[in-house]
Amino acid sequence: MPMFEILLTLCLADAPLECRTLRTSGGEDRAVCQAEARRLTAEWPAEEIPQKWPCVPKGETTPFDLSEIAPGVYVHQGAHAEPSGDNLGDTANIGVVIGDDAVAVIDAGGGRRVGEALLSAIRNLTDKPIRWVVLTHMHPDHVLGASVLRDAGAEVVGHFKHPRAIAAREGSYLEAYERLVGAPFQGSRIELPTQLVKDRTELDLGGRRLILEAHPTMHTDNDLTVYDEATGTWFLGDLLFLDHTPALDGSLVGWLNNLEKLTSREAARVVPGHGPISVSWPEAAEPMRMYLTTLVDRTRAAIAAGVPLGEAVETIGGQLDAPWLLSDIFHRRNVTSAFKELEWE
Ligand SMILES: [Zn+2]
Repeated sequence: MPMFEILLTLCLADAPLECRTLRTSGGEDRAVCQAEARRLTAEWPAEEIPQKWPCVPKGETTPFDLSEIAPGVYVHQGAHAEPSGDNLGDTANIGVVIGDDAVAVIDAGGGRRVGEALLSAIRNLTDKPIRWVVLTHMHPDHVLGASVLRDAGAEVVGHFKHPRAIAAREGSYLEAYERLVGAPFQGSRIELPTQLVKDRTELDLGGRRLILEAHPTMHTDNDLTVYDEATGTWFLGDLLFLDHTPALDGSLVGWLNNLEKLTSREAARVVPGHGPISVSWPEAAEPMRMYLTTLVDRTRAAIAAGVPLGEAVETIGGQLDAPWLLSDIFHRRNVTSAFKELEWE
């Protein structure tokens, strides 16, 4: 039984944006698969040009659910866990929007294996070209699968501050994921956005438009949201956490202030970066807003009382009055970040 398959993307020679992808068997290892892909592309008729032929492990990836939450809008739910060899770095939600002409993907998971499983799952839904992979911010659980989609022909899109944020952290992200995910992480790489969003950008998928919006510093300094006009679905990335403890890597005050503006807008549904794949807006923001508000209040009170950081981390409670998953990992970091931000205000 072949263990690899080839995803061969073919584009029309006289209309290079008209592409389609074929799946075919590729042999028992990656080298055999790549040789087979080269043989196939050499044989292809001149009116179609083979562009990309990633070799994807067959049956090796974990089952990859993409659920349709609105017409043409699919979401995959990441695990509520630290990245590991078991989950392969599949710990953040991923979106797929299919238009008449093209596909856009929102975030790509935390490694090459997640990207490959995602690509296979998309190819089970449609042969349309994957023209964009939009990264909602620079965190590794959202970006490390993007290279697979890039190799399959997608342009990588991100906030204009994304490349700078990655540059400062690339080494530590890769080192941490190599350690946590282990062997399955091999071959993963960071793919920088080449289309940058400074304010607002529209992507035309054919019959539907996505509105991309760059935000001021909130969860990070490079948060980007994606709104699908056709269905009123708003992908908020990590501007919205549910169940999973929020992770603060930008500005606590900025997050709360801008959250208020975002909750005054309407959307038929929103997709959080972590948590259930489709929730109602603005109600879904309330638990996180409470968490962030309590964190601000208790941290300010600790600073005013002269409590040192080391003690504040212990005394500002991990659960903050509501149950949050993974709070043992994220809450102490959040108190530290909040303390450093609020100490000098
Ligand atoms: Zn994040």
